[in-house]
Amino acid sequence: YKINMDEFELLEELGKGQYGTVQKVFHKPTNVTMAMKEIRLELDEAKLNQILMELDILHQSQSSYIVDFYGAFFIETCVYYCMEYMDAGSLDKLYGEGVPEDVLAKITSAMVKGLKFLKDSLKIIHRDVKPTNVLVNREGEVKLCDFGVSGQLIQSLAKTNIGCQSYMAPERIHGGDASTYTVQSDVWSLGLSMLELGTGKYPYPVPDKNERVGLFAQLSAIVQGDPPCLPEDNFSAECRDFVAQCLNKKPQNRPTYAQLLEHPFLKKYEDVDVDMKSWAEQAYSSRKDLLKQS
Ligand code: ATP
Ligand code: MG
Repeated sequence: YKINMDEFELLEELGKGQYGTVQKVFHKPTNVTMAMKEIRLELDEAKLNQILMELDILHQSQSSYIVDFYGAFFIETCVYYCMEYMDAGSLDKLYGEGVPEDVLAKITSAMVKGLKFLKDSLKIIHRDVKPTNVLVNREGEVKLCDFGVSGQLIQSLAKTNIGCQSYMAPERIHGGDASTYTVQSDVWSLGLSMLELGTGKYPYPVPDKNERVGLFAQLSAIVQGDPPCLPEDNFSAECRDFVAQCLNKKPQNRPTYAQLLEHPFLKKYEDVDVDMKSWAEQAYSSRKDLLKQS
């Protein structure tokens, strides 16, 4: 069974990324509201078909920490990727001035479990861990999206430029090629995302649009500078240690997912009931993008 564009009613635009837009859509045959991501690529039909084939493995396994995949198709040279609609949106628009430690613990736990699932069950590394790729719904569930399932898709996207906030680990910035990318690089990106969620701010200098000097300053701060850390006043020693271990500049010294799940920070909140539903609802109603408009 193949889904196609005729089966969808387009609702609103959810956001724009480097490669295209994400739209909220209604799938008429199944009565399911979905998010449809358009990925603009310049590829021939054989390569596009290969991408669809590679995405197919997502139909075989599911996790509550991974955004569900419903199907994909292409029109001309655009791939349309249909996934679970997450009605509170991505974390970048929800963290505000920074999330409290207990909420950070629940988000982190979901992220580590999602990343471990990808690695153990699908044998894939995420490659793009950052707040825009962590989605939340108003039930308070936290799930990962935009992971590198398709080798062909990874290759095709790699040719285009990087964004203005880099979550890349130091070894990736100087290493460059795909072979230097291991699961440890995702652990760095996890630590950097946590730091941003906790403080409400991306920690490195952010260049103005297309300003090469600024981008160079950011990348050299990541490679040459000391890694950033969470402030002592708002975060416990356990929490700060967790982030510090992820942000170790030597990839081989970063913890594994199994070790992270056993870390005192996650253990401390394991049996604590944090009201994520209330947090998600409240964060959603004071979203950054809405505040900017008014
Ligand atoms: P980049 O292009 O650098 O990866 P990005 O992750 O923001 O940045 P997209 O993946 O294209 O770009 O997503 C654009 C926006 O759409 C996201 O920031 C997110 O807010 C929203 N979005 C994406 N997927 C969903 C989804 N399944 N449900 C709800 N909102 C979504
Ligand atoms: Mg994304």
